[in-house]
Amino acid sequence: MMLETICETLVEAYHRNWITSRDGNVSIRHHDRDHFYITPSGVRKQTLQPDQFKKIGILHQPVDRWSWTELPYSDISSNLKPSGELPLHFGLQKAMGQHSNDVRVVVHLHPTYCVAAMHAGIDLSTVVNDFPELSRYTRVAPNVGDVPPISQELADQCHHNLQLDNDGNIYYDIVGIKGHGVVAIDTSPWRAFEHIERLEHICKIVLASRR
Ligand SMILES: [Zn+2]
Repeated sequence: MMLETICETLVEAYHRNWITSRDGNVSIRHHDRDHFYITPSGVRKQTLQPDQFKKIGILHQPVDRWSWTELPYSDISSNLKPSGELPLHFGLQKAMGQHSNDVRVVVHLHPTYCVAAMHAGIDLSTVVNDFPELSRYTRVAPNVGDVPPISQELADQCHHNLQLDNDGNIYYDIVGIKGHGVVAIDTSPWRAFEHIERLEHICKIVLASRR
């Protein structure tokens, strides 16, 4: 099951120093379900298990009013809270857009060189100009500026810069949040991971070239 795969990607992200133990969060939705799963808050990612995920129901009232509700999933997850970045994930999962016949995975991590590049004043969307190989597979949105973690403002700014529309279409594959991390979207955990890996690799090269 894909929740196991998500756990594997988070262990890998931890070993790459892209997160410390309790950082990072991931959500996954199948197109034909009106719920999604999200990682719990405050759990060590090295030991995260599929039955610790939180199940979130998507409610759609008329006139475009969306809301979420926690659904029962497993005994162990009932004692946990969803990731504090739930507003970020909910906005990206509530409508499936271009993934309407597929799966959507949203991954938020703190990759070292992406964060370092933004800290050095680089807009991640501009690095594709010098490294066209990156843009063959990954569309990079303009950076989100300084916004507080786990805030609606962070969610709104990410949604805006990713060009999320009302039908859930998302133009970009990844966006950086200054002083914080990145958010990547694709149809599987490893595909989303690869957007981060690709951008991280280029940011490492860019920073290594500076004197
Ligand atoms: Zn974060």
